Amino acid sequence: MRASSATIHIDALRENLRRVRELAPGRKVMAIVKADGYGHGLERVARALQGADGFGVACIADGQRLRAAGVSQRIVVLSGLDEPADLSEMRRLNLESVVHHPVQIDWLAADRDARPLRVWLKIDTGMHRLGFAPPQVRDAYARLRELPSVHRDIGLMTHFANSDAFDDPLTTRQVDAFEAATAGLAGERALANSAGVLGWPEAHGDWVRAGGALYGISVVEGRVGADFGFRPAMTLSSRLIAINRLVRGDRIGYASTWQCPEDMAVGVVAIGYGDGYPRSAASGTPVLLDGRYAPIVGRVSMDLVTIDLRAHPQARIGDPVILWGRGLPVEDVAAHAGTIGYDLTCGVTRRVRFTEEAG
Ligand SMILES: *Cc1c(COP(=O)(O)O)cnc(C)c1O
Repeated sequence: MRASSATIHIDALRENLRRVRELAPGRKVMAIVKADGYGHGLERVARALQGADGFGVACIADGQRLRAAGVSQRIVVLSGLDEPADLSEMRRLNLESVVHHPVQIDWLAADRDARPLRVWLKIDTGMHRLGFAPPQVRDAYARLRELPSVHRDIGLMTHFANSDAFDDPLTTRQVDAFEAATAGLAGERALANSAGVLGWPEAHGDWVRAGGALYGISVVEGRVGADFGFRPAMTLSSRLIAINRLVRGDRIGYASTWQCPEDMAVGVVAIGYGDGYPRSAASGTPVLLDGRYAPIVGRVSMDLVTIDLRAHPQARIGDPVILWGRGLPVEDVAAHAGTIGYDLTCGVTRRVRFTEEAG
């Protein structure tokens, strides 16, 4: 059996939710579970996070999966309906739709279904991706309020572009723009993503929308989840399947990018980009072997990674190797691969065996 496996730490997910509540006391927590729960497994994450007040998904199909798994909390589809035909399924499953564009209001206005749909009006306060510009907010809100097909309790939300930089003034401007655009409008407010929870208490609103923090991952430059009291929810591991004694000058892997500076042992680990380990991970990216770091050397290939064993004379074939997770923050690996931790956990492929562990 292929050795690559991802262990999902159920208690870590639960404790991370508790930690989010501690950081945003009295606020409701919408657990963001898009992209299969950031790669951890949607149903598994929802079960572990039963204590969340609601869930945020990227598409209706994920809402279907959550309802089929017995989730009874509120579920928000973060980009809302993509076409008018989505409305009946959203109503059937009691999903809530973000409304970010006038065309979605047109679709709602043309809809004759009597069951009122709950919606969240999305306001673009500076991210410039989805949402109504502040001058259009009151008109959009008034239109939604008039529609019998829309529930009267309309949520109000925005999304931060740079909240992971705790001194970036854009977030303050976004909060101010949100407050000005929504002043006097009834409805629950939701502004903060994980970094908003960590760094911007004035933006906690009624709901926080936490994703990465629940999985123990930080997007704050140079900081890892543990720095904020979070525990990694995924450990990706594999095994050493070969140990080779190479001599000075030998080159390793595709394109021969790494050359042995001396006679040395090089280990081969059964994991590669076919498992979701990033091909962009440069020589020097750490893995964990017997509780200590070993650097990868040479190119990551589809099924295999080569590592420098000079500091590991005890290494044996079959030894477990941790690629990220417990003892090796995914953020550190991501930094060596030129990306963020979210990208790595989302990218673990179906070839990897997923297991759960209580601790
Ligand atoms: C993904 C997402 C979040 C969660 O962001 P994190 O950085 O993972 O906490 C919150 N809100 C919206 C609209 C999102 O798309």
